[in-house]
Amino acid sequence: MRQSQLFTKTRREAPKDEVAVNARLLTRGGFIFKNSAGIYTFLPLGLRVLEKIEKIIVQELNALGAQKILMQAMVDKKYMEPTARWDLDVGFFALDDKPRRQGVGAPTKASEEANFVLGWTHEEVLTAIAAEYISSYKDLPFAAYQIQTKFRNEPRAKSGLLRGKEFMMKDLYSFHADNRDLQRYYGEVKEAYLRIFKRCGLDAIYTTAAGGMFTTGNTHEFQVLSDVGEDMILMCLKCNYAENREISELKDADKCPKCGGNVAEKHSIEVGNIFPLGTKYSAALGLEYVDELGVKQPVVMGSYGIGISRLIGAIAEISNDANGIIWPDSVSPFKVHLIVLDDRKEEAEKLYNELTDQGIEVLYDDRSDKTAGEKFADADLIGCPWRVVVSNKTLDKNSVEIKKRNEKVAKLVPLDKVVASMI
Ligand code: ATP
Ligand code: MG
Repeated sequence: MRQSQLFTKTRREAPKDEVAVNARLLTRGGFIFKNSAGIYTFLPLGLRVLEKIEKIIVQELNALGAQKILMQAMVDKKYMEPTARWDLDVGFFALDDKPRRQGVGAPTKASEEANFVLGWTHEEVLTAIAAEYISSYKDLPFAAYQIQTKFRNEPRAKSGLLRGKEFMMKDLYSFHADNRDLQRYYGEVKEAYLRIFKRCGLDAIYTTAAGGMFTTGNTHEFQVLSDVGEDMILMCLKCNYAENREISELKDADKCPKCGGNVAEKHSIEVGNIFPLGTKYSAALGLEYVDELGVKQPVVMGSYGIGISRLIGAIAEISNDANGIIWPDSVSPFKVHLIVLDDRKEEAEKLYNELTDQGIEVLYDDRSDKTAGEKFADADLIGCPWRVVVSNKTLDKNSVEIKKRNEKVAKLVPLDKVVASMI
């Protein structure tokens, strides 16, 4: 893509009201636009990152045999009442769709009048859908997931993409004949999640945690270490065994019960959470199947979330320097930021075409009204993994200058070797 055509522009200063590093960098780079506290638009660069992450998740979950669907944001009261999750504070974005004398768009009145909530999670809806298709043990197991917008009443929406009121989540739900099969699948999802986070450039720590609003038993979180994280985990420095502070008994232990290693307390960001739900939702919503002996049994369920937009915030928060973001190759909006100086457009265009013909994603800074310094500053801020410069100086040597975003030194590469060195 030609940077001269990109409708967004970088900004030197972050907005005054943004305190979180991720929001400051992502706003300055033109990845996101803040509409309101906790509500962000994904601009072209930001959407490219989001789509890269989505692709990784889709690949890993499809490999587990999970099937992609799309549920809707408007969730009928009838689904949430049986599980007593209709009027929880977290789902305060309640709506009604009753006709009004004043006309369409009249403001919603008090929440007693509401008959819909903007979905903050979808266990109930999918359980009801599953009930339509599950009758026998032969229909089990199966799993379905979606990538969709979630709405939550988050009073502390000051952390940029880390905590949104409206945010992107991947939610997966699995349905099983018994607990043993759920545990098998739960283990597979755990491994897939660890691969997803690794592919996104993050070292996630598998952490035992409380069930919260989802289940009474323990659940597991995927935490990445960061001083700005709202969570506190106790982790073993030797084997990485970790527990969320909320439930941890390691607080009082100096040694890890698994391996005897030293335990430390760390701040972290929860990027994913998996829940062995058991029969809580199937019992409440009447989801049953007939087993091999002809006996009715409740379906055993699991649910599994990844905060996709939070993941972007976490990467920006963790992987940066004084000049901007440092994207891992796998999720960077573009692989190469190609910069032309000294009006050497003819040569730069040629290289741009060669690279894109090879399927390499290039952001081409073809702007004529920017200085070299401005272009370099933008490349650092936007943070693509490779910076390629075409200028009088490099062309005198029949070369371009290539620098990796996370390295200090640049090197000259002959023009005819550039494409090969990028693949
Ligand atoms: P938290 O404790 O941070 O509020 P949660 O336990 O409420 O998270 P889940 O309901 O398990 O979160 O949602 C699944 C995933 O969605 C979380 O692991 C997190 O990555 C992400 N997530 C949850 N709430 C938000 C939010 N307000 N903004 C962005 N991402 C979120
Ligand atoms: Mg929450």
